Amino acid sequence: MGRYIVFLCSRCGMPRYAREGQRTAKCPYCNFQIRLDKIRILCRVEDSRAAREMVEKYKAKILIRRGMKLR
Ligand SMILES: [Zn+2]
Repeated sequence: MGRYIVFLCSRCGMPRYAREGQRTAKCPYCNFQIRLDKIRILCRVEDSRAAREMVEKYKAKILIRRGMKLR
């Protein structure tokens, strides 16, 4: 079972997750190709369900901070 990393897009700051060891991931919000060796990892989790939960948690926090405006 692979591990997953949760991180923020280095361009728009929205959270997403990827499998550990993956080199890049595309941000669904701004289409930026994120280089995973350049980002700060928020946390590591054991499965994709936990990864999705963490992403939702971070997303809610960020949207509240931004006044619920998603651009
Ligand atoms: Zn982005």
